[in-house]
Amino acid sequence: MKNSKLALFGGNKTINYKYNSYNPIGLEEVNAAKKVVESGVLSKFLGCWEPDFFGGPKVQEFERKCEEYFGVKHAVTVNSWTSGLIAAIGAIGIEPGDEIIVSPWTMCASATAILHWNAIPVFADIEEETFNLDPISVEKNISPQTKAILAIDIFGHPCDADALRKIAHKNDLKLITDTAQAPGSFYKGKLTGTFSDVGGYSLNYHKHINTGEGGIIVTNDEKIFERLQLIRNHAEAVVEGKGVNDITNMVGYNFRLGEIECSIGIEQLKKISKFVSKRQDIAEQLSAGLQNLRGLRTPVIKDNCTHSFYIYPLILDVQKVKVSREKIISALKAEGVEGLIGGYANIHLLPIFQKKIAYGSQGFPWNSEICKREVSYDKGICPIAENLHDNTFLGYEMCLHDLSNRDVKLIIEAFKKVWNNLDELR
Ligand SMILES: *Cc1c(COP(=O)(O)O)cnc(C)c1O
Repeated sequence: MKNSKLALFGGNKTINYKYNSYNPIGLEEVNAAKKVVESGVLSKFLGCWEPDFFGGPKVQEFERKCEEYFGVKHAVTVNSWTSGLIAAIGAIGIEPGDEIIVSPWTMCASATAILHWNAIPVFADIEEETFNLDPISVEKNISPQTKAILAIDIFGHPCDADALRKIAHKNDLKLITDTAQAPGSFYKGKLTGTFSDVGGYSLNYHKHINTGEGGIIVTNDEKIFERLQLIRNHAEAVVEGKGVNDITNMVGYNFRLGEIECSIGIEQLKKISKFVSKRQDIAEQLSAGLQNLRGLRTPVIKDNCTHSFYIYPLILDVQKVKVSREKIISALKAEGVEGLIGGYANIHLLPIFQKKIAYGSQGFPWNSEICKREVSYDKGICPIAENLHDNTFLGYEMCLHDLSNRDVKLIIEAFKKVWNNLDELR
């Protein structure tokens, strides 16, 4: 390996084939979906106050199974976790102009779901170790307008639920969690995503549980539970019949998930522990193989936490390696390593926040009287997140592939080859 020429400079590629795509669908899912199709009942929801308001048999069965698995009082299925986030924020009774503190290291929907209710996202910085919201930065960003904290369990590592709950309690804030990337990860012996007032999971095709599209919202709060169901299914048409007096945010939607997806979800949920432990096993092999490469930090898993590896996160010490991240990525890609990403979201830098143009062309809601103060989205507000994004973060999208032991071995070989030839890249 030592003297073999990098593929980037015309040498042989370490990996000469494509890895298998992530596809957790087995015969059990096929049969379950087939039965639903044969029954002819593909959905059974009705948007009015009667028994079908709660959906058909598979929707309700999947919800009961999710309550059992996640250990929560209530689970509500939705047609995506983006819908779930919108419903969750509406359900806690957010008012226009209220602020919600959120991480910039997430998928954009965590922030746009806030905007959706004309509330204002405020971005706090992240911890370098876990890429999750830094509780100290959260506290610094609390203002008289703050009503909630929206924490993400990014890449599969649980957020610091104890610290965030303490801050929320002290300041009378709600805690919402986005566990799209971390179903099956534990925090202090309990599944992450279940510690907040309301949380949930994505079921899209590259998440751990795949129903094509879909989401699950979880809560232990009775009032939030009722409001989630209403927002999911035409609240405005249902509140009167149901006798609901608080009609705040009872603008309803059709966020309903179908019977086919739920029948697939029931089978997927049975396999979640297996899916997660396979990724943990791969991550362990990768970390064992990569840990001695100078200037490369393998994932940190904090005490009392487990990781479910939606993304396998690495950090490059550019001073030590003396090669830019971009060059290293090109060299690894040339060796045939797929699924590498340099940097991550930094949602605050998206045009919608930079230009403050959301609803209409006049800068609503920031430019209106409901927004009580100037909120900054300038570069520099989240220095740790920004430096990771610009210079040092290197991720492998474990969610995209179904890696074999051979793939893992060759990925490690490719990294070692590149590290043995760093001189050539300088
Ligand atoms: C995938 C994802 C979402 C959105 O979920 P969908 O089901 O695709 O709408 C939200 N937040 C995070 C962190 C995600 O990874």
